[in-house]
Amino acid sequence: MAFLDKLKAGLSKTKNAIFGQIDEVLKAFVRVDEDLLEELEELLICSDVGVSATEDIIEELREQIKDGRLKEKEQVIDALKGILEGMIGEGEPLALDTTPSVILVIGVNGAGKTTSIGKISNRLIKQGKKVVVAAADTFRAAAIDQLAVWCERSGADIVKQSEGSDPAAVVYDAIGYAKSRKADVLIIDTAGRLHNKKNLMNELSKINRVIERELPDAARENLLVLDATTGQNAILQAKEFRNSANITGLVLNKLDGTAKGGIVISIKKELDIPVKFIGVGEKIDDMQEFDSSEFVDALFN
Ligand code: GDP
Ligand code: MG
Repeated sequence: MAFLDKLKAGLSKTKNAIFGQIDEVLKAFVRVDEDLLEELEELLICSDVGVSATEDIIEELREQIKDGRLKEKEQVIDALKGILEGMIGEGEPLALDTTPSVILVIGVNGAGKTTSIGKISNRLIKQGKKVVVAAADTFRAAAIDQLAVWCERSGADIVKQSEGSDPAAVVYDAIGYAKSRKADVLIIDTAGRLHNKKNLMNELSKINRVIERELPDAARENLLVLDATTGQNAILQAKEFRNSANITGLVLNKLDGTAKGGIVISIKKELDIPVKFIGVGEKIDDMQEFDSSEFVDALFN
């Protein structure tokens, strides 16, 4: 199945739960007026678009009604699409201009970090890049094994140590290896949970210091991986991680099978960090660079 079809299929629950119902709302009204806007507001808030982003959307619709751009209820869907696209903004590609460049992958357990690394490696390798992956989630042996399986699938080299070893030391090793092999990209997997949150944040800082010391001029991406099925909770996670890492982009996973796809709009409003990739399944091809107009289209069509 082509990615666009997967995206549409993946977003069908969001669409049916919320955006599909917009049709129903429109049928119940004759004119675009305050009552209609109120109904729309309720729908959007329920779809994890978030209160604040919803207010912006409704305000913009109100403006369009006032200045005459929005007259008929048949124009509401197109107006909404335009507003959403504008709010989400363009997708941003990865900035990987140096050799090596570094992608640090962070996020809570189960968000899909390891899977995303497999998918991203696969994409980069298909583009002709040499990829090294560092197994710096040393908290569980199974995490290292799982990453090794993904590296085998994608063709990336893996640098690993045993369970419980110092993650920053794994990163140090991996940087040496990436330099010696003239790798294009080093991707670092990290733990999503340690004994407590403070430990985790300290460890991320330590990894950061090693990268900054060993590769001071390297292009960097710090990707925060989020699970879309957690809805507004994903936003809270992002706010916490942002305190200990300069997040350059988001990977939003598990958009398949959730009715909470509206989270993309909320993310933009609340965090203003670009969504760089979206995941719509567990297979190696189930990830793509985020494209806002494709996304908005999939929500409505
Ligand atoms: P990590 O703990 O952050 O490294 O998360 P994992 O990569 O181990 O993923 C946790 C679970 O989520 C695994 O069972 C993955 O197969 C699943 N997963 C990851 N991404 C997606 C996605 O886009 N869609 C679906 N349906 N499952 C996903
Ligand atoms: Mg993992």
